[in-house]
Amino acid sequence: MSDALKQGAMQIVRRLCEAGFEAYLVGGCVRDEQLGRPVKDYDIATSAHPDQVQRLFERTVPTGLQHGTVTVVIGKKPYEVTTFRREGGYEAFRRPTEVEYIDSLTEDLQRRDFTMNAMAIDQNGHLIDPFDGLKDLERGVLRCVGQAEERFGEDALRMMRCLRFASAYGLMVEQATWDALNSGISLLRHIAMERIRAELERMLGGSDPNRALELLADSRALRHVKQELLLSKLDKETEWPPLSRLTEMEHRLAFIYIRLGADPAGVEEDMIKLTFSRQQMETVKRIVAAHTVLVSGLDESPELNGEPYLRRIWIAAALNYGVSALRTLREIYLLEDAPIWTDNVKVSRAVDVWRKLGCVWLEQMPVSALAELAVGGKELMGHLGVKGGPWTGRLLHRLLESAALGELRNDKETLLAAAQEHYDKMQENDE
Ligand code: ATP
Ligand code: MG
Repeated sequence: MSDALKQGAMQIVRRLCEAGFEAYLVGGCVRDEQLGRPVKDYDIATSAHPDQVQRLFERTVPTGLQHGTVTVVIGKKPYEVTTFRREGGYEAFRRPTEVEYIDSLTEDLQRRDFTMNAMAIDQNGHLIDPFDGLKDLERGVLRCVGQAEERFGEDALRMMRCLRFASAYGLMVEQATWDALNSGISLLRHIAMERIRAELERMLGGSDPNRALELLADSRALRHVKQELLLSKLDKETEWPPLSRLTEMEHRLAFIYIRLGADPAGVEEDMIKLTFSRQQMETVKRIVAAHTVLVSGLDESPELNGEPYLRRIWIAAALNYGVSALRTLREIYLLEDAPIWTDNVKVSRAVDVWRKLGCVWLEQMPVSALAELAVGGKELMGHLGVKGGPWTGRLLHRLLESAALGELRNDKETLLAAAQEHYDKMQENDE
């Protein structure tokens, strides 16, 4: 599979060379190949100008002509072919103001961010590595090409990339690069939140989220982004259990927010600022909301905190926020032997019970959503001979809760009888 991907790339490189141009594989694909990691996409750098590339290949798409990129399609696979270039001044600490086409591969490699990203492979498969990227990789070091301070000043996004590469590839940031990152970190205010989010997502979703948290805390990066975030509270003192035990990035994020003491509204605001998708935000928010409701439910009824009560509110939360949110919440509770985020004994005990029994309780639920209930709203109103109103919704929800708890059988007769009883009682009370 990835072999075919590489063959397509080499085909492009050879074709360009046959036509008298220089062409190489460059960037991330070279790095990942050297590390024996799977390669997502192969990028090609060439001395040919975009119009020359377009003329040489049958199927091309002008995806980024303003910076010299043409997409060449081989088979069904797209490859980015970019003309060697030098970047002029930089604007707003992010975009080069002008790009100038050049003839020199070395100079093209020189504009790249880190030594491990500044290597190339020629048409014969030979490595070209003017900045000792391979040596750095072997030593496990992430280092800027050239003067780190200058490089981060040109494009502040490189600092987020630095944190991401260090955590995702398990690298130490070389001292001068790290010093420059720390002194330049406030430039992150120039970077669009969307770019910050994209890096953050890859850091937290990557193979070592704990390292990501450590680097974010050490660099205080999130305190310096455009908008104020709850996540900026991440600090060096916080200890974290192994977050990689949670498989989804969203679940890791939910734990982080819980650990920082965020409430659901705060989570929503933070994630919108970071331009996460609506769906991602909902997933995280549901987990945090379920947790918040469960824990605050305890304070109001201290004398009732026995297992039956803990089961009741657990199942009620599952109905409100979804069974999968509660499953995840249990996984979150299992991360630590005892919750470090609270010193409230009542809360620790409840969490302990939910860790042990939460999953069984969820599995035993005979119904978990209104759609599964043996009666619907219309039928209920028909049976009681009333028009619908907000209370019919509430009544349905009560029936659902009782059925989910196993107090009522989920069949039509039982539910309608219970509804009738409830309705009669309500009428009496009204009189
Ligand atoms: P990945 O695709 O896994 O994020 P990558 O290194 O391929 O890693 P890309 O964003 O695809 O990253 O960029 C391709 C190459 O372009 C990089 O390897 C690097 O050489 C160069 N590059 C990308 N972004 C920058 C930047 N902000 N500053 C300098 N060079 C960059
Ligand atoms: Mg890439």
